[in-house]
Amino acid sequence: MLNISITKTTAPKAKPADESKLGFGVIYTDHMLVIDHTEGIGWHDARIVPYEPLVLDPAAMVFHYAMESFEGLKAYRLADGSIQLFRPEKNAARMINTNHRMCLPALPEEDFVQAVKAIVKMEADWVPHSEGTSLYIRPFVIATEPHLGVRTSKTHQFIIICSPVGAYYSTGINPVKIFVEDEYTRACPGGTGFTKCGGNYAASLISQVKAHDLGYEQTLWLDGVEHKYVEEVGSMNCFFKIDGKIYTAPTVGTVLPGVTRMSCIELLKKWGYEVCEDRLPIADVMKAASEGKLEEVFGTGTAAVISPVGELRYEDQVAYINNGEIGPVTHRLYDTITGIQWGKLPDDMGWTVPVK
Ligand SMILES: *Cc1c(COP(=O)(O)O)cnc(C)c1O
Repeated sequence: MLNISITKTTAPKAKPADESKLGFGVIYTDHMLVIDHTEGIGWHDARIVPYEPLVLDPAAMVFHYAMESFEGLKAYRLADGSIQLFRPEKNAARMINTNHRMCLPALPEEDFVQAVKAIVKMEADWVPHSEGTSLYIRPFVIATEPHLGVRTSKTHQFIIICSPVGAYYSTGINPVKIFVEDEYTRACPGGTGFTKCGGNYAASLISQVKAHDLGYEQTLWLDGVEHKYVEEVGSMNCFFKIDGKIYTAPTVGTVLPGVTRMSCIELLKKWGYEVCEDRLPIADVMKAASEGKLEEVFGTGTAAVISPVGELRYEDQVAYINNGEIGPVTHRLYDTITGIQWGKLPDDMGWTVPVK
């Protein structure tokens, strides 16, 4: 149990007047939560303080060796004005796994959830009210020790910042165009693919730039060893419905174990679909498309929830999926998960946690 001190801002910012223009990760709330970690002491000085720039030594290890990890989840405003979280303990557990791999200290699961609830409660007025909007919560850990020798850091900070974000699909759910990356690699066995760390993103931007230049919105990554099996899309896990059966890559070290992915699998199984978590060759996906058997493709992640894919380009082949329209299973998953998140559907799965 953390003992969190609170220092309120003396200069609260104006809340955004037009919630239809929030965007994603553009504006930040009035406060942030900070917890220090010192070797030999552990976590100490948990505090909510005014949101402000950090003061760090330029030699802080985070700047030089990417000793950093992060999480992402949301707080949702319900019709009765109350606020809830979606499976925050899963983010807490994932950050423990990430930090273990990255040699960063991890907060115990209960402390992570307590910290998230505390900052959301503090910033309750910043949780937007309009349809589809939410408060995005970004916990992260940085190595703060000024030291240029490569080793683990003796000091760290756990920080949570929050950003009110707009409806992801403000103009309706438009399927995205995906470029299948066959040159660069995101993750390899034994690497950091299963972790949420900044370094994974730094190394993957080049493919995003390439995809954009070719007129595609995101990259679908293949396995790093053979460039043969589908893994995930940008910041989303990826599902394929082929001839009635649903496939998604196994989370065996090179794929990020998404909370949305896990929730989709649980729902799909409950609805009686067969979900296959075996490796799926991209060649099989393209073959299914040419035979008219590639019924639906969608990405899953906290930001978009479910993102239908309308087009896949692999080398010189292009697959068009479901006439560029959202498929029925994709739609049902979107409606069910968002329904539970915003409290419009009963939470039969026990996934939501109120912030009181
Ligand atoms: C965060 C993330 C996801 C999605 O995870 P969720 O828990 O569903 O938000 C998928 N892939 C990558 C690489 C990610 O960083």
